[in-house]
Amino acid sequence: MSSPVKSRLSLCDIAMKLNRLSLNHGATGNCSIREGNGFLITPSGISNDDLKENQIVMLGMDGNPDQQQSNELLPSSEWRFHRDIYVHRPEVQAIVHTHSVHACALSVLGKKIPPFHYMIAVAGGKYIHCADYAMFGTQQLSDNIIKALGKQKACLLANHGVVTVGKNLQEACDIAEEVEHLSHMYLQARIVGEPKVLSDKEMDEVLNRFRSYGHWEKE
Ligand code: 13P
Ligand code: ZN
Repeated sequence: MSSPVKSRLSLCDIAMKLNRLSLNHGATGNCSIREGNGFLITPSGISNDDLKENQIVMLGMDGNPDQQQSNELLPSSEWRFHRDIYVHRPEVQAIVHTHSVHACALSVLGKKIPPFHYMIAVAGGKYIHCADYAMFGTQQLSDNIIKALGKQKACLLANHGVVTVGKNLQEACDIAEEVEHLSHMYLQARIVGEPKVLSDKEMDEVLNRFRSYGHWEKE
């Protein structure tokens, strides 16, 4: 199987998985994978529940469909931020966008999530930042996402949802799942009190430990 076909299949698998995990529902959210000089992306307005590989759209970095590999379907309305992340972050191979419920609930506050739990470091920093609101599908939203994401792997989108990136689709999906978990925990904690936030030093230690997590390390 040639690699674009494999990539199309993994996009369908992940889009369906995001719905199964309730991180998305119906046609909400989208995902993409870097391919050749462009990227493959889910189509606009089509339910993730039963996506087929021939419904995936191939775009060049100029946002134009690849004539040879594309179909009649429109790419996700959010293709601009997918394209801009691939341009700004050469190491990123895949992007996931979700409307998961607890992260969306937090996003309406328009604030970054503080390090109330050490797993905030999964996004690669001490906070998960929040991109300022702009209408979906716009260049302004993309500009706001590029700024909020910086060098990290996740950010919230004010009054909208979440964007995560990874070295592959599975990593971007796992981070989206973790962001939803963290958002749920944070909202629960805020019901009963003011969460204690970890210090800069404590988070530096966690970030340091994450660099070797899962690898043998001499004590
Ligand atoms: P698309 O169906 O166009 O990808 O839109 C879904 C979405 O989440 C817009 O932000
Ligand atoms: Zn969205």
